[in-house]
Amino acid sequence: MGKPTGFMEYQRLSEAYEPTTTRLKHYREFVATLNDEQASLQGSRCMDCGIPFCNNGCPVHNIIPDWNDLVYRGNWEQALAVLHLTNNFPEFTGRICPAPCEEACTLNINSDPVGIKSIEHAIADKGWQMGWIVPQPPKAKTGKKVAIVGSGPAGLAAAQQLARVGHDVTVFEKNDRLGGLLGYGIPDFKLDKTLIERRVKQMKAEGVTFRTGVLVGSEQLPEGICNDAKEFVSAEQIQREFDAVILAAGSEVPRDLPIPGRELKGIYPALQLLIPQNKAVAGGKANPINAKGKHVVVIGGGDTGSDCVGTSYRHGAASVTQLELMPQPPERENKALTWPYWPLKLRTSSSHLEGATERRFSIATKEFAGESGCVKELRTVELEWKDGKMCEVEGSEKIIPADLVFLAMGFLHPVGGLLDAFGVEKDARGNAKATTDGDGCYATNAEKVFAAGDTRRGQSLVVWAIREGRQCAREVDAFLMGSSTLPR
Ligand SMILES: Cc1cc2nc3c(=O)[nH]c(=O)nc-3n(C[C@H](O)[C@H](O)[C@H](O)COP(=O)(O)OP(=O)(O)OC[C@H]3O[C@@H](n4cnc5c(N)ncnc54)[C@H](O)[C@@H]3O)c2cc1C
Ligand code: SF4
Repeated sequence: MGKPTGFMEYQRLSEAYEPTTTRLKHYREFVATLNDEQASLQGSRCMDCGIPFCNNGCPVHNIIPDWNDLVYRGNWEQALAVLHLTNNFPEFTGRICPAPCEEACTLNINSDPVGIKSIEHAIADKGWQMGWIVPQPPKAKTGKKVAIVGSGPAGLAAAQQLARVGHDVTVFEKNDRLGGLLGYGIPDFKLDKTLIERRVKQMKAEGVTFRTGVLVGSEQLPEGICNDAKEFVSAEQIQREFDAVILAAGSEVPRDLPIPGRELKGIYPALQLLIPQNKAVAGGKANPINAKGKHVVVIGGGDTGSDCVGTSYRHGAASVTQLELMPQPPERENKALTWPYWPLKLRTSSSHLEGATERRFSIATKEFAGESGCVKELRTVELEWKDGKMCEVEGSEKIIPADLVFLAMGFLHPVGGLLDAFGVEKDARGNAKATTDGDGCYATNAEKVFAAGDTRRGQSLVVWAIREGRQCAREVDAFLMGSSTLPR
């Protein structure tokens, strides 16, 4: 523990944001990394508790107190080495992780938690700036071949771990860019895409082969799923040519809202706004959906909804309303009841504050109505909970004007055809069925086929995808070699 009195002397300092007036004019990141002195003082607030609850709250079990102390002492290179022991991509999580570690921080009981995520962000960025992050190719090759379907954080983490122990890893990605939702989905203003390219370059030097524009398993994709593939490879070919396969294909099937008027123009699943926006920012053609001067309604809270809000403001939307089925959570949690767990509380993102976002809770949309085939309004009703059931409040019908509606109500499961092509059994929700603990974990019922990330656990977070990719890599290594030295 660097400074025993640090937590009493220094306040939490959050990262500074570029003002809304200027950041709405571009799609670049707008969060400034803490400087060395700021990060050091923030690191000194860590109490190095006997039981580091933060470490348990972090899905990859980052060894947080150790790197806090190292940053406080100015030993950044060592801090980076400790961080990389548990997390392949801290520059991603340092930017877009919701930081369950901070909810679990002991200081959070009666003060502001240590700014763990901002310190992680600073360590990772310094590591790249200083040239400390270099390829770590294996000392020897095993001659074993592993195919990974999907290049999101789960696929990338698994690929890096397996390549570093000497396996020949090929990542297949149907889209024209790598990164999964990190690349196509999450807006550039939250995560700069050059960060992904940098990691991919490192991984290529470690021996990973990337094949973009290659669809694996099934050519039948539900409508609206992004697919840039120019080539198809069957499940049989993959199974024939590789010693093990990891399905890390995400959870791409969006939840729909099949109510009257759903067929009207102007109603889109969220990724139909967000992916073309990423492509446009990368220099592709203009986004065919433009919210300029339009009344936008986003149905669904969460990260996806919030990203639609921020993107609509950058387009110049006239108004943005966000509807949520569930009741408004409390502004502050009851810490005595919830700590160290992830509490239910009102979460306001930077995107919500980029305009006068009207957030309405306990609202169900009953119907879309329009003119000349285009959506013009939503007919909604208020909801209340009675005897454990959600009921409509009589006389609460309202009309909300809307020129554009984005459905951000989550994702159901991976594209079923891929799992069927490999003969993989599904769980009750349609995800690949595999456990995460015990003998044979991450293995599916299909011979030599494993599953990780959103494809296995359902729609989740980047940090969980990294965890599953790492743990799955260990199981695949053990399957191929009889035992594994990779960490879990
Ligand atoms: C808009 C949005 C914003 C989000 N924001 C955040 C956030 O701020 N913080 C956070 O922690 N999480 C966020 N998430 C969730 C997070 O992005 C996901 O949980 C995470 O990316 C899952 O990783 P994954 O590797 O399992 O799958 P994905 O990232 O979905 O990657 C799967 C990849 O597999 C490819 N693929 C699928 N099928 C095939 C096939 N048959 N052949 C070849 N390739 C295939 C897909 O094209 C895709 O590139 C967000 C999600 C969305 C949709
Ligand atoms: S990965 Fe997320 S939970 Fe883990 S230390 Fe970083 S911000 Fe916290």
